[in-house]
Amino acid sequence: MSFVSMKQMLIKAKKEGYAVGQYNINNLEFIQAFLKAAEDERAPIIIAASDRLVDFLGGFRNISGMVRAIHEEKGITVPVALHLDHGQTVERCKLAIDAGFTSVMIDGSHHPIEQNIKMTMEVVKYAKKHGVSVEAEVGTVGGNEDGLIGGINYADVGECRRIVEETSIDALAAALGSVHGPYQGEPQLSFDTMKEISEATEIPLVLHGGTGIPQHQLQRAIKLGHAKINVNTENIQAWTKSVRKSLSENESVYEPRLILLPAIEAVVETVKNKIREFGTSGKAVE
Ligand code: 13P
Repeated sequence: MSFVSMKQMLIKAKKEGYAVGQYNINNLEFIQAFLKAAEDERAPIIIAASDRLVDFLGGFRNISGMVRAIHEEKGITVPVALHLDHGQTVERCKLAIDAGFTSVMIDGSHHPIEQNIKMTMEVVKYAKKHGVSVEAEVGTVGGNEDGLIGGINYADVGECRRIVEETSIDALAAALGSVHGPYQGEPQLSFDTMKEISEATEIPLVLHGGTGIPQHQLQRAIKLGHAKINVNTENIQAWTKSVRKSLSENESVYEPRLILLPAIEAVVETVKNKIREFGTSGKAVE
């Protein structure tokens, strides 16, 4: 199967009670690991570039080119969406779409709701013309988002309803206590507000900060309408642990291949575990 937007993927996931994982690219080898894990598990997958890492990753066209080339070389058959995570401006969402991304998130959550809705509407208008899905955010996910550090700001139900009704987005990230990066203690997700938002909006919800949320909370979030869960920290921790081990166990090693192959395997295993936890295994069917 070729690249798809997130729209049908998430509608199916919500209907059938599982979530599709979004995994963030940190370099070329992460893309290889994600596609292998998804193919082995027969799972749909969302591969994302965080806007703050786009320059580091060589720009929108380079990212799209890398993902598409590996997809073709490896003969990947499961549905894959290429998504822009935390798009910072309307213009940058348009650049991602022009470069071949099949999904974008416009993150207007740091602006007042009127401005957030206005930006989101502009992106939706452009995205629909290209068959691209759109995610928006209300409230603020806490923690460290690729260098941007901030506190949690819980989403307001009325604002969530408004953005969904006024913009026709495909998925909503309502911040409900999750954080990017490691949690200090047990995550404090507001399940009461989650239920209200789920009932008020009806579209698939997105859970950011998927690393470190216990399985029982994930299952509750999926039951309450979350069809997409974002994971990055857990993958980069597995990656770094493996690289550190390779370097410390063999002081004379200098070939990148010997250092990076075990790290790719570590990410493949981490993503496979997430796919199983989210209930996505075997869901790559029409
Ligand atoms: P974690 O890094 O906490 O897994 O969160 C990832 C994320 O939400 C990306 O948008």
